[in-house]
Amino acid sequence: SEIAKQLLFLCEQEKHSNAINFLNKEVLKEAELLELKQADNSLLFGIPYAAKDNISTKGIPTCASSNILKGYIPSFDATIISKLKDNQTLMLCKTALDELGMGGVGLYSSNGEIYNPYDSKRIVGGSSSGSAYLVAKGIVPFAIGTDTGDSIRKPASLNNIVGFKPSYGAISRYGLLPYSPSLDTIGFFTRNVNDIAILCDATFGYDKRDATSIVINESDFYKNINSIKKTKKYCYIKYVIEALPNELKEKYYSFFNQLKKQGYEVMEVDFPKELLLAVSPVYMMISYSESASTNANLDGIKFGARVDGDDYEAVIKNTRNAGFGEEVKKRFLIGSLNLNKDKQLLYLNQAKKVRRLIVEQMSKIFQQADILIVPPFYDIAPLVSDIKKPLTEEQEIITDILILANMNGSPSITIPFTKKAGMGIGINFITKPKSDLLCLQAAKV
Ligand code: GLN
Repeated sequence: SEIAKQLLFLCEQEKHSNAINFLNKEVLKEAELLELKQADNSLLFGIPYAAKDNISTKGIPTCASSNILKGYIPSFDATIISKLKDNQTLMLCKTALDELGMGGVGLYSSNGEIYNPYDSKRIVGGSSSGSAYLVAKGIVPFAIGTDTGDSIRKPASLNNIVGFKPSYGAISRYGLLPYSPSLDTIGFFTRNVNDIAILCDATFGYDKRDATSIVINESDFYKNINSIKKTKKYCYIKYVIEALPNELKEKYYSFFNQLKKQGYEVMEVDFPKELLLAVSPVYMMISYSESASTNANLDGIKFGARVDGDDYEAVIKNTRNAGFGEEVKKRFLIGSLNLNKDKQLLYLNQAKKVRRLIVEQMSKIFQQADILIVPPFYDIAPLVSDIKKPLTEEQEIITDILILANMNGSPSITIPFTKKAGMGIGINFITKPKSDLLCLQAAKV
């Protein structure tokens, strides 16, 4: 409880950072209760953590950094929160995000902008911005994030920490406020791969309350983290590595050589460039459409901050006008257009067909090799003033590459790789769906 007190103090000092939506002061009492108990075998006993604020927490405000959910207090815990509670962890705070998970910058939270903890002129990334920030700052050893496009794995790269998106369905999403249900995945930030393994052991498992929940036929992640077989094949897409700035490209090639020296095969694999460049628009079509549909319940009638009006429609209109930020409104507009009956055939169904091609291409890759290596980003965290700059073709190839793993449901992990000007740049490993242990083992190598 003494440590909990100090951590709460540190969190209070972070007020200016906008990274925290809610400080859980009850944690002191919970820590005192734990102190009375004998530490059990759980490696997570008494470990403090932070949870992204789009995860429901019983009796604790949950607003997903959206004004429309201001004042909403869930009456139940998300499964991930219950599981962590069962493991005697201590939730210190709820962290800020790009509103409802929409964005990759950390500038779209209703709380205010969040900047990179190493350099406040640079973005922290997102949408799991506050979670990445607090782990990078060393305030918590782990934090829950969510990843629909790259919202754990890209900020992990920009903040020089570890970020893991498990297989789609491996962690129950019961209690997650959705952004795009066919892509949404819960995962973690930590400062090392072993800690991810410990968290998988504690939180994976089938949950009948999540219709997309799956069973991963692997267990004892932590115990088996170092037992990768030397026969596993690593692979990369040549033009993707070639698109990197020179210095970083050389780092990748020398890393491939190191792997070969250790006895692993490292091979090139194909990915048609036009298909890779389609990942970003397809993601926008699918995720914006799903977001408009799945968030249709945010109308000021059932929960959140209502703005009055003369009739039912006026209440909804006024509430949504005041409650949503610009980025969210933009996505809902485009999404609603796509969901219109004629437009569904024209745009959305086409996008789904291209997604299928992308998934098939990923399957082909995993028939030839086991671990796909991709750069989570082409540089250190960009300057806030640069984020609207148009991208070069090279940058475009890399910028949304992590979404591949959301499209096919693969596990994918970013770990620190190299540094430039004191800032980190990560590397990412993707393995086929349901091979989460291998993904962690590959990162451990
Ligand atoms: N960059 C993606 C976006 O802007 C990430 C979102 C996510 O994974 N939640 O939508």
